[in-house]
Amino acid sequence: TRIAVLKERAGGETRVAATPETVKKLVALGASLAVEEGAGAAAAISDADYANAGAEVGPAATVVTNADIVMGVQAPDIAALSGAKPGAWVAATFDPFGQRERVEAYAEAGFEALALEFMPRITRAQSMDVLSSQSNLAGYKAVLTAADTYGRAFPMMMTAAGTISAARVFVMGVGVAGLQAIATAKRLGAQVSATDVRPETAEQIRSLGGKPVFAEGLEAAGEGGYAAELTDKQKAAQAEMVSAHIAKQDIVITTALIPGRAAPRLVSDAQIATMKPGSVIFDLAVAQGGNVEGSVPDELVEKHGVSIMGYANTPAHLPTDSSALFSRNLFNFLNVFWDKEAGKPVLDEEIGDAIRLTKGGKVVNARLKG
Ligand code: NAD
Repeated sequence: TRIAVLKERAGGETRVAATPETVKKLVALGASLAVEEGAGAAAAISDADYANAGAEVGPAATVVTNADIVMGVQAPDIAALSGAKPGAWVAATFDPFGQRERVEAYAEAGFEALALEFMPRITRAQSMDVLSSQSNLAGYKAVLTAADTYGRAFPMMMTAAGTISAARVFVMGVGVAGLQAIATAKRLGAQVSATDVRPETAEQIRSLGGKPVFAEGLEAAGEGGYAAELTDKQKAAQAEMVSAHIAKQDIVITTALIPGRAAPRLVSDAQIATMKPGSVIFDLAVAQGGNVEGSVPDELVEKHGVSIMGYANTPAHLPTDSSALFSRNLFNFLNVFWDKEAGKPVLDEEIGDAIRLTKGGKVVNARLKG
């Protein structure tokens, strides 16, 4: 089995889908690895590191020639795959709902697109879950970036020149990113509160030293541990709670996502206007439409004296660690399904059906139909 790793071509992408560590492990399974020149440069991995780990390093066209599997962080355009074996697997993130045309193109070209963001949230797939590994780092980076933009300190400090009070941080959406944001803000000494629409998160917030702030009776747990969209009545209840709470906050980190839909709007311009000048909002959902009115990917927007920010690709701002974890997720995935006799991975139904977008010239994923 020949596995190809291409340099990421999307703008602002600094990650890479394999590291020398995972190259070694895949070679040990019996695969041969081919890595494009410069693929790891932005993540501080040199071509020599890959070569020493046992990979063939070369130009894109050579690397992809006769590949059985192409691994990526973001799925490459079809043009980059010419020369790969017919029916080759491409394991990467596909943004399947946002990039339907690309999915169609993969089907047409006969490749088997495996969307890593569709990995089911079951215990045995946790080690393969790129959404979790990347969200965790994103939650951390959001807090650090907000702290850096904030013109004041996070911890309470008692100094000879007087006392500085602790920053108040409000985390909205307590999934993987939100939990890490709470933990990071606590470590920096902030007073942290947090909210979600899944009631079980209250205990998780408390266990990290944060204060849960929930709208009365609001509960919108969806399938597979994800949230559901709120009804208009629920949205109004949540907006009321946010209005009462947000004016006292210095930093707001929003992380709320609903699979397959635009990110829910959690903070309005009118609510921002009630915040103190100098406050900072980091919108981790900015690339999915944004939780915050007026947020723009990769821009620092100032409104009512409040800084509103968010990266289009937050994990790409921690390229070395995000690549290391992403690559391990991919390795774990291939390793679990590696069939020694066949000398290649063979997927089971539960995970295969969940992540496979295209096969045999067709779009086959249930979530993309209807
Ligand atoms: P996510 O990125 O889809 O969403 C982030 C958070 O925003 C979620 O907690 C969600 O409930 C919340 N949210 C959505 N709409 C909201 C709204 N209107 N207001 C406030 N909050 C809102 O979620 P995630 O980080 O991927 O994690 C979701 C859950 O799945 C977590 O409980 C996590 O532990 C679980 N999980 C399980 C596995 C596994 O078992 N393999 C893997 C990953 C995550």
